[in-house]
Amino acid sequence: MIINEMTKINIKKKKILIRLDLNVPMKKNKITSDARIIYSLPTIKLALKNHCKIIILSHLGRPVEGKYQKKYSLFPIVKYLRKKLNNTTIHFSNTIDNTIQIKHGEILILENVRFNKGEKTNSKKLSQKYASLCDIFVMDAFGTSHRMEASTYGVGFFSKIACAGPLFMSEIKSLTQAIKKPKKPVVTILGGAKISTKFNILKTLSKISDTVIVGGGIANTFLAIKNSVGNSIFEKKFIKSAKKLKEKYNIFIPEDSKIKNENNECIIKNSCSILKNEEIMDIGEKSIIKIKKIIKNAKTIIWNGPMGVFELKKFRSGTEKIAYAIANNKNAFSIAGGGDTLAVIEMFNIKNKISYISTGGGAFLEFIEKKDLPAIKMLKKNVLSNNNI
Ligand code: ADP
Ligand code: MG
Repeated sequence: MIINEMTKINIKKKKILIRLDLNVPMKKNKITSDARIIYSLPTIKLALKNHCKIIILSHLGRPVEGKYQKKYSLFPIVKYLRKKLNNTTIHFSNTIDNTIQIKHGEILILENVRFNKGEKTNSKKLSQKYASLCDIFVMDAFGTSHRMEASTYGVGFFSKIACAGPLFMSEIKSLTQAIKKPKKPVVTILGGAKISTKFNILKTLSKISDTVIVGGGIANTFLAIKNSVGNSIFEKKFIKSAKKLKEKYNIFIPEDSKIKNENNECIIKNSCSILKNEEIMDIGEKSIIKIKKIIKNAKTIIWNGPMGVFELKKFRSGTEKIAYAIANNKNAFSIAGGGDTLAVIEMFNIKNKISYISTGGGAFLEFIEKKDLPAIKMLKKNVLSNNNI
């Protein structure tokens, strides 16, 4: 692939802008899983070793664009990094308009890119502003490389040099290797709450999989084809596509669910009889037994998204049992990815039992689907338009 790589170009003493994916799960302003930060550390250390002036960009959560919200501030991450890299000066700025002057070997972290107007729409003005901050732009946020946003995509068109960071490179190399010739049966497990991002990828995933097991909001959207799902999360606009997929492919939809009723009680019910005031929070026991069997026979496992609201103990068992089933299948090549999926992997301490763990969720799925990503296109274009480098 013809793209610049951070490890192969001269970055010594350069002013570099690194887009990382520091979008870690948080609870009450506390980091609940530091996996994505840990994965990004080698990139930061490489820049420090080269005495660069380092500016870091990242998003966190999904704030309303153009508006500061404390809940989505990167400050807890700045504090974490200050502790981790205690010999390094780390500045923090809540604006990109007048960035602090930094010295070689120092870091400046800019506040959540999603507070900036034009980030999501890939505004030209904002992309140019980002590019003006640096000599070299480093794209290392694999987790957002499927999005065409100003800090992940646009910036690369205005930077003299744009290159891929080491994490980004290792992700695409490992995933390419993993999906070259997957051993059958291929079983995909798709759960979580980001329904629209994941639904668009379901068709290709269904094509390459012998069975697709759905959980979370994805499963609810399938259940909603015929039944009411009460207060559960689901997306109406994908019901039609769910119906088509169900007719054509082998999709396993949980037949029983753990629900929360209007009195806040937790009961297991048939997934077809969910009442108006009830909410599906996890998969039920019957489904767990069946899913475990399917996973046990798989030779390739692709996993993204928890089966239920695993953050709450009462609704954890579906995700927990499925996670262990994946980890305990020693005959399968297992690939897992996604912010919350990483948190699940940490929670149950199964990191060493998954063959490959990706930091991306949507990006990981999209790469498996298309073997390409907007960020890769941007990096290729940058090489073409600056072929004198
Ligand atoms: P990932 O980050 O691994 O790609 P997502 O971000 O799509 O996964 O989804 C993770 C979130 O989905 C978790 O916070 C979890 O609580 C939530 N979730 C899973 N199942 C349900 C459900 N039935 N109802 C509401 N939220 C759910
Ligand atoms: Mg998530």
